[in-house]
Amino acid sequence: MSKDKQFVTEITPQSEDFSKWYIDVIKKAELMDYSPVRGCIVFRPEGYELWENIQRDLDRRFKETGHRNAYFPLFIPESFFQKEKEHVEGFNPELPWVTEAAGEKLEERLAVRPTSETMFGHMYAKWIQSYRDLPVLINQWANVVRWEKRTLPFLRTSEFLWQEGHTAHETEQEAREETMRMLEVYRDFVEEFLAMPVIVGQKTPSEKFAGAVDTFSIEAMMKDGRAVQAGTSHYLGTNFAVAFDIKFLDRENTLQYVHTTSWGTSTRLIGSMIMVHGDDRGLALPPKVAPTQVIMIPIGPAKTREQVVGRVDELYAELKKAGVRVRVDDRADVSPGWKFNEYEMRGVPLRLELGPRDMENGVVVLVSRISGEKRIVEQANLVQEVEKMLAEIQTEMFEKAKQFRDENFKSVDTLDEMKASLEEKRGFVLAGWCGSEACEKQVKEETGATSRNIPFEPKEHKSTCLVCGEHAKHTVVFARAY
Ligand code: AMP
Repeated sequence: MSKDKQFVTEITPQSEDFSKWYIDVIKKAELMDYSPVRGCIVFRPEGYELWENIQRDLDRRFKETGHRNAYFPLFIPESFFQKEKEHVEGFNPELPWVTEAAGEKLEERLAVRPTSETMFGHMYAKWIQSYRDLPVLINQWANVVRWEKRTLPFLRTSEFLWQEGHTAHETEQEAREETMRMLEVYRDFVEEFLAMPVIVGQKTPSEKFAGAVDTFSIEAMMKDGRAVQAGTSHYLGTNFAVAFDIKFLDRENTLQYVHTTSWGTSTRLIGSMIMVHGDDRGLALPPKVAPTQVIMIPIGPAKTREQVVGRVDELYAELKKAGVRVRVDDRADVSPGWKFNEYEMRGVPLRLELGPRDMENGVVVLVSRISGEKRIVEQANLVQEVEKMLAEIQTEMFEKAKQFRDENFKSVDTLDEMKASLEEKRGFVLAGWCGSEACEKQVKEETGATSRNIPFEPKEHKSTCLVCGEHAKHTVVFARAY
């Protein structure tokens, strides 16, 4: 079998087995590898660079909205978890404990953090005395551990990388504004940078964060129709303030509890982006996040090779200078066709080909990973043309994903309709819900779908509950989820 064939056949087609396709792609593109510890993965450079690009852009957005970074400890004393009842109940099943160090049993067990509300709470109680100390707007980039029963690389791992914002405010209104502000930061980032359309809304009480008053999320649809919760923002009320005694003297000189928020996104974003954009040829990376935006491939016979490579190097320097993330593959012992497949599999959004004829004509050929469109452009306008085409690819990827999402988003009135819809085609379902936990549970038991969120802007408002037929308090998005 030729090398070209090998590449294509090693990736299981999405229609055959989507999960297998996903694993084939992330392994083949060298984004990750499994580690000897269950549920923990190694981020290889190609995968880690995706995270670095995500981090850089999100971090800029956090700073633009007034936040600063800090770093809090990995270990959290057991007693901290006992202080907030819902929080401990929610997280206890997933906590790993350190019970011994340096050969001695610890006096108090230490949890490896699953999230840091408690540690921030403890410290904020020391730092906040007066309204003048507020708001406190801190973000941390860190690893966290949740001993998950079911794991899937990037999407759900036992140790993952993330950011967690923790803020404290004078009033409920301010804290709620912050919760919404950061949800909007997430929406804008995920849609604009990762080209993933999301549904923005509020979690139902049974799906909210352990210890939160209200949880809000952004939900994306994968190419197999399943949902991924891509980010969450929580209004925590005074729950953690009461538990950790975070009080301040307000403007009237009376002692009040602060109102806190927390919000997080993780390396799950990498997995969801892959499942939204990838295809049978492999990864498809939106230009804004792609570690390599343009791959340059010199072509043509050996006799013109030196000249062509020389010109490729000059053009490379121009693109690099303009800030384009560009690489050259001038290996002579590998065919152009093999390289084309290789970089398509790796999801590089734009390929640039230069051959002897192009040299004579002063042009290059640009090929889009997404549409396959070929464009012959003047070398004199290269930077401009490349930037234009990258921007177009970014938009096209978003539009394509949105179209897919909309095509697989059904509106139903009954549980039977929902079952039929999920059977016929996976995807999201919009339905009315009376607000009772029993009805929500029944949906899950009978269809495997969970409530994703109560969208802020549903396409329509449903009037009756899909299970009991009573008046619908909310219009909810349901889907099977990762
Ligand atoms: P939470 O603190 O539970 O609201 O989680 C914040 C965000 O982290 C979620 O919205 C997910 O995107 C992500 N997340 C939660 N659990 C995991 C996990 N096991 N692996 C990867 N990402 C996760």
